[in-house]
Amino acid sequence: MAQEAALTALATLHQAGHSAWLVGGCVRDLLLGITPKDFDIATSALPEQIFTLFPHAQLVGAHFGVVLLSAHLEAATYRSDLSYQDGRRPSGVVFHSDPSHDAARRDFTINALYLDPLSGRSLDFHGGRHDLQSGLIRAIGDPAARFAEDHLRLLRAIRFAARFGFTIEPATLAALTTHAPSIRRIAPERIHDEMRRILTGPRLDLAWQLLSSTGLWAALVPEAPAGSTLARLTPPASLPLAWAALLQGIPSPQNIFLRFRFSAAERRDTLFLLHNQSSLLAYSTLSLPQQKRLLRHPLFPNLLALHLATHGPGPTATHWLTQQTRWSHSDLWPTPLFNGDSLIARGLPPGPHFRQILARLEDLQLTNPHLTLADALTILKL
Ligand code: ATP
Ligand code: MG
Repeated sequence: MAQEAALTALATLHQAGHSAWLVGGCVRDLLLGITPKDFDIATSALPEQIFTLFPHAQLVGAHFGVVLLSAHLEAATYRSDLSYQDGRRPSGVVFHSDPSHDAARRDFTINALYLDPLSGRSLDFHGGRHDLQSGLIRAIGDPAARFAEDHLRLLRAIRFAARFGFTIEPATLAALTTHAPSIRRIAPERIHDEMRRILTGPRLDLAWQLLSSTGLWAALVPEAPAGSTLARLTPPASLPLAWAALLQGIPSPQNIFLRFRFSAAERRDTLFLLHNQSSLLAYSTLSLPQQKRLLRHPLFPNLLALHLATHGPGPTATHWLTQQTRWSHSDLWPTPLFNGDSLIARGLPPGPHFRQILARLEDLQLTNPHLTLADALTILKL
């Protein structure tokens, strides 16, 4: 869909006499045989000329003159960036009529390829095709200067390397390592977003190797003990699982959640995984209901995955895997022998104590699957 819309938009721009190319991530992905999520067009047309051709287009918020043509399709005039002031965004842009400046402002060579699928022509100002074939992440221009002007590129380099299983070219890697401490100047939301993409990617071993060896992880979370468990997770991991692997053993994970603006759900799930590692280990002290409640928790597979990545196979993992096969769905979720309505029918005044009675009933049923209604009523003195 988006691809068709992109080709139609290219044709419309060409017919109006403008130069226009697919550019960036979509070209990289197409050449790697991956279906792109989003398409970007770079063109000589100025924003107002783009609006004339695409009356329904909308300006994209924070970016200078970037135009949203339709869902997953953006167009932007060839541009170069004015000086960077805050380590993240240029203070402005200058529009150009040819794409060479536009290529030079992009971060990595594999992200600066231009393709016109209609004619099959392409532009490659910085050796991006070679690097794509060789599996290399290489900064365009002087790597140190490029990381100094926009520190988010430090994490982007690692994200692309880990996503594609690529190597970071030595000069780029050296500059990344030198500039790693600058990552602290990036807005926490942006870091969280880049980390989310890295941690849910396909190569957590590579992600960890790069985050740790460059000093980026130490710069981001100086108080963290080695988070190397991440490297032993089997991707793709859920975000809470990956964060829990990174943060295991940290004294106050809540500080990190606050620092990086975790959502409430991310906080809850990551904490669940961190807190319940000890419950898994202490299985011999847990009651049957406690074990069953842990096993039926939606995050149980993540809990076990974290345990396995930390401790490897052993008696604890064997215990839980055995229990998992032993108990059926109805063993874990027994149909309640009675509910609140039944209690009211028996003449009990409704109130908050109903919850306690029903929780105790569930405990009894989780302990004894063959419990009868009569037994339950007797034990609960109802
Ligand atoms: P993804 O598949 O993750 O979207 P992408 O390469 O498309 O990867 P985007 O963030 O969508 O990444 O950016 C589109 C293009 O814009 C990039 O390919 C790159 O050419 C350029 N770009 C994006 N962010 C930067 C940056 N921080 N510095 C320089 N160029 C950038
Ligand atoms: Mg993109």
